[in-house]
Amino acid sequence: ISTTTTSMIEAHTYLAKYYHHLLLNTEEGKEALQYLLDRGFTLEAIEKFGIGYSLERWDAVTNILQRRGYSLSLMEEAGLVIRREQDGNYFDRFRNRIMFPIHNLQGKVVAFSGRSLGEDTPKYLNSPETTIFTKGRILYNYHQSRAHMRKKQRAILLEGYADVIAAYKAGYEETIATMGTALTEEQAKTIRRTVDQVIISFDGDAAGISAAFKAANMLIQVGCEVKIAQLPEGLDPDDYVKKYGAEKFRTAIIEASLSFMAFKLYYLRQGKNLQDESVRMKYIHDVLQEVAKLNKPIEIEHYINTLSKDFSISVEALQAELSNIHRQTK
Ligand code: ATP
Ligand code: MN
Ligand code: MN
Ligand code: MN
Repeated sequence: ISTTTTSMIEAHTYLAKYYHHLLLNTEEGKEALQYLLDRGFTLEAIEKFGIGYSLERWDAVTNILQRRGYSLSLMEEAGLVIRREQDGNYFDRFRNRIMFPIHNLQGKVVAFSGRSLGEDTPKYLNSPETTIFTKGRILYNYHQSRAHMRKKQRAILLEGYADVIAAYKAGYEETIATMGTALTEEQAKTIRRTVDQVIISFDGDAAGISAAFKAANMLIQVGCEVKIAQLPEGLDPDDYVKKYGAEKFRTAIIEASLSFMAFKLYYLRQGKNLQDESVRMKYIHDVLQEVAKLNKPIEIEHYINTLSKDFSISVEALQAELSNIHRQTK
């Protein structure tokens, strides 16, 4: 490890403590702390996740880093300060934001994500990609959850920071988050090295559902068994815990998660009137199209039998249709 890397990580580690201190122990941090408490973050969770606050100033971090002997051009490379074009002076990247430290897989602080206190945009401001931070390689909270994932033999994959913290409040520590971007193959492989089973619990909106499909396919591709915990329209895990409580989140969402196939079937069924014959035929065809993607004979037989029973169609006819699909997709 080079000295520049070491020094970048050192600066992040120091600033994480500084931001955390500002949030908990200062007058300037009070509003941010109140914001978090109002949102239902507990002091214990704030400690556990090392959450902090950055001052509403242009030079707070810049001055501290300079005083501590860091080269500001290196700190710019690390994403902590920004160089102004006009005069070449540096200023703080993160101002007046709730600070979430982001750790690499080994548990070192390598980036921050700063959330605005209100409706300011962007809602989250992230560190840029740097030599120590590659977003597609890191999973939020992996360093703290690894041991729990191993013990529970499963991972719960979420979208955001607040979701991880809400799940923690609900008793789940085997949690990781993608930080809102598509799950990469590298992240999927990292998960696969730790556990076989993954429960995906993304936001209950169109973006979340589509991201869940993609993440599920990626995880299956690397050999994970995937389940999907589905949230009501418009809610994410954090909203859900706040609205319905931890107990209901556990029983009705996480422990009620569906197999990926069951989740697909559920979605194919949404808003369809299966009493209508043509709608019903289309539905059966769509289901068979999904069944055609399976490769375990027991599963294929299970879904064929279920369709046969549910719609009073012979197993033979369904199998013939399945063969047609196989022929067409070759
Ligand atoms: P909150 O509950 O604080 O409003 P959220 O986690 O529900 O936030 P989403 O809009 O659902 O926010 O986004 C999910 C995740 O995507 C965030 O937690 C964050 O990691 C990432 N994200 C969202 N918006 C941005 C952004 N503008 N820039 C970078 N990352 C973002
Ligand atoms: Mn979302
Ligand atoms: Mn969300
Ligand atoms: Mn949210």
